[in-house]
Amino acid sequence: MTPFARLFIPVAAVILFFAIYLDDTQASNKQQALMNNEHLRISQQLQTIHQTFDNIIADLVILSKHNDFEHISIANINPSNQHVQELAQEFKQFHIHKPHYDQIRFLNLSGMEIIRTNRFNSDNGSSIEIVAPNKLQSKKHRPYFTQTVGLSNQEVHISPMELNIEHRKIQQPIKPTIRFSIPLFDSKGVKFGILTLNYNASSLFQQLKESGLKDGLYLSLLNNQGYWLEDADTSRTWGFMYTGGSNNTFKHQHPQLWKTISTSPSGQIMHRDGLFTFSQVHPLASIKKRLNDNTPAELLYRAIPKTYTWILISHIPAATVAAIIRPSATIYNIVTASLLAIWFIIALILVQQQAVKKDTQRQLAEKDSHIRHIVDAAMNGIITINEHGIIESFNPAAAQMFGYDQDEAIGQNIAMIVSSADEKTHDAYIQRYIDTREAHIVGKPREVIAKCKDGRLFPIELFVTARQIDDHWLFVGILHDISERKAMQAKLIELATTDGLTGLFNRAHFNDKLNEEFKRAKRYQQHALSLMILDADHFKSVNDYYGHPAGDALLIAIARMAQQCARETDVVARYGGEEFVIIMPDSNANEALQLAERLRKAIAELEIEYEGNNINRTVSIGIACLQESDKDSDMLLSRADQALYHAKESGRNKAVLN
Ligand code: GH3
Ligand code: MG
Ligand code: MG
Repeated sequence: MTPFARLFIPVAAVILFFAIYLDDTQASNKQQALMNNEHLRISQQLQTIHQTFDNIIADLVILSKHNDFEHISIANINPSNQHVQELAQEFKQFHIHKPHYDQIRFLNLSGMEIIRTNRFNSDNGSSIEIVAPNKLQSKKHRPYFTQTVGLSNQEVHISPMELNIEHRKIQQPIKPTIRFSIPLFDSKGVKFGILTLNYNASSLFQQLKESGLKDGLYLSLLNNQGYWLEDADTSRTWGFMYTGGSNNTFKHQHPQLWKTISTSPSGQIMHRDGLFTFSQVHPLASIKKRLNDNTPAELLYRAIPKTYTWILISHIPAATVAAIIRPSATIYNIVTASLLAIWFIIALILVQQQAVKKDTQRQLAEKDSHIRHIVDAAMNGIITINEHGIIESFNPAAAQMFGYDQDEAIGQNIAMIVSSADEKTHDAYIQRYIDTREAHIVGKPREVIAKCKDGRLFPIELFVTARQIDDHWLFVGILHDISERKAMQAKLIELATTDGLTGLFNRAHFNDKLNEEFKRAKRYQQHALSLMILDADHFKSVNDYYGHPAGDALLIAIARMAQQCARETDVVARYGGEEFVIIMPDSNANEALQLAERLRKAIAELEIEYEGNNINRTVSIGIACLQESDKDSDMLLSRADQALYHAKESGRNKAVLN
C-alpha cells in the first residue's frame, strides 16, 4: 500500500462510516415519519367513513320520521294519493340538498315503488326528478327489499357496495352504490313500506384519493374478499362484478401479505414491494357502539347485516419509499463528497510534505554521519556539552587525550576534565555566557590546563563555540594538547636568555632586565639600583698556559661563585668573554660594595684544578649606583664600566665604586 493510501483510507473510511450512519439515521427517521403519516391517513379515512355512514343512517331515520308519513297507511298507499304526492315533493326538497344520494325510494310491502326521486347529473350540475307514476317499477326481487321488508322497528339494512346496474349492464362511468333501507311503521306500529337511500360512494372514494393526492400516494379500499373497490389502477377494481375478474384480488397478487392483512385489525408491513399500511374498516362500528351507550331507546338503531367489513390499504411502492427516505442528492451526500475531496487534497499535501521531510531527514542523517566521520577522524579533541555542563559527545581524539572511554565520558560533567583551578568557575562561565552572551571562553582560543583520568595536568588550547538550539545550548570545544609546544617554547626562551657555557643569563637578557629595573626604579624614586661589572684579571694567560677548556672551566667556577654570593633578587649574567654583570635592585652603594668585596675575596680564594694544575685568578669589579641625572640604563652601565677601568688601572683585584 502506498503511503498515500495508508493515510487516506482510514480517515476516509471514518468519514464514510459517519456519513452512512447519519444517512441511515436520517433515512430511518424519514421512514418512521412516512409510516406514521400513513397510519394517520388511514385513521383519518376510517373516521371519514364512520362519519359518512352515521350521517346517512341519520338521514334515513330522519326522513323515515317525516310528518307526511302520518297521513299514509296501507289503505291509501299509491302514487296518485295526494299525500303521497306531497311527500314526493318533500323527498325532492330533501334530495336537492343531499347530492351524494342518487335515488330515494319509498316502496310498499310488495316491493312496488310508490315514490322515487332520481338525480340526473349533467355538465350544468345535477337536478332531481320525481319519477312519473307510470314509470315506477317493482323491486320485489332486489336483495335490499327482500332483506329489509322483514326487519323490525329501529332496524336498518345496509347493502354491500355494488356498481349500479341499469338495464342489466354496469352503469358507466361506474357508480359505486350502497343502499340504506329502513322499514316504515304507522302510528299503530303496523309496517306499511320501506324507505331506501341509494348512496353514491364516489364522493367517499374521491376523499380517499385526495388524502394522498399531493404526495402521489393512493389509498385503496378492498372488500372482505380482497377485491379492490377503489384503487389508483381502475382496471383491477370490482373484479367480482365482471366475468373473468375473479383474479383481480389483493389475495391473488400478494398471497403472503393477504394472510396478515385479512387476519389483523390493522398494521403496517415493510415488504420488498414497498410499504403496506392497512386497517379493517367496520363502517357500522359506530352504530354498534351507540347501542352500548346510554342513548335514549328511540334513537337506537340496529344495523343489518351485523358484520360489514372493508379493508383500507395504502401501498407505497418500494421505489417511492426509497425516493422519499433517501433522496438522491441529500445534503449528507454533498457534505460527504466535499469532506472526502478536502481530505484527499490534505492527505496529498501531507504525504508530499512527509516525503520532503523524509528526504531532508535522510540528507541530514547523511550529513550527520559525514560530520561524525570527520569528528571521529579529527586529530583534535572535539567535545560537546549542554548548558548544564554535561558531556554529550566525546570524540576518539579526546578519549585518547584524556584517557577516558567515550562511553565513560558521555553524561559526565565537564568538570571531570578541567583542572581543579578552573573546575569551580566553569559552570559559572557557561551560565554567565547564556545570561549575558559575554564571552570569556566562547569564541576565543585559550590555553587552559586540563586533567587526565590519572590526574595528570597538561596544557591544552581550547576553542569553544556556542549555539542555541530551541531552548537548549550546545557548546562545542575543539582542543589539542599543547604540552610539547609549551616545552619547546620554554626551551627557546631558555636558549634565548641563557649563556650556554655558564648557565647564567646572557647579555641580551641582562640588557632587558637592566632596562626593566631602571624603569622600575625611576618610577618608584625611593628605590635604589646598583650594577656591578666583573672582569677576570689576566685571563688570556689561562688560555695561553692551560688551554681554552681550562679557561672555560674557570669561567664556569667564577659564574657559580657569583651566583652563590648574589641575592635571590639579583640578576647575574655573563656580559661577554670573561666579563660578568650583576644587577642589584633595591641595593644602595654600600650594599653593592659589600657584595663586590665579598665576591672579589671569594674568587681570589677560588682555585680550580684542571688536569693536575691548580688555576686561580682574581677579578676586578666596577660598581655604579643609580643617580637622578641618569637618563637611561646605558649611563649607569657606562659608569660601572669606567669604575672597572679604574680598578684595572689601579692594580686589579679591586672593587671600585664610581
Ligand atoms: P686584563 O687583566 O687586562 O683583563 O687581561 P686579560 O687577559 O684578562 O684581558 P684580555 O681582554 O686581553 O683577554 C681576554 C681573554 O679572555 C681573551 C680570550 O682568549 C679570553 N677569553 C674570552 N672568552 C673566553 C672564553 O669563552 N673561554 C676562554 N677559555 N677564554 C676566553
Ligand atoms: Mg675583559
Ligand atoms: Mg680580563
